[in-house]
Amino acid sequence: MITYNYKCQSCDKQYDVKQRITEDPLTKCEYCGAKRLIRNIGVNEFYFCKVRRHRYM
Ligand SMILES: [Zn+2]
Repeated sequence: MITYNYKCQSCDKQYDVKQRITEDPLTKCEYCGAKRLIRNIGVNEFYFCKVRRHRYM
């Protein structure tokens, strides 16, 4: 499981969601229901690389 950080462009809420790597990015905000979520990348991408390296080495 990876923790993704989402931000809603509608209500401006920012929150973390745990998802599997294979899961599609969320689009619907769990606070206001608007389909205006965007997923922040950065720390999470770094974590993803670490997991992959660990698995395939
Ligand atoms: Zn929202």
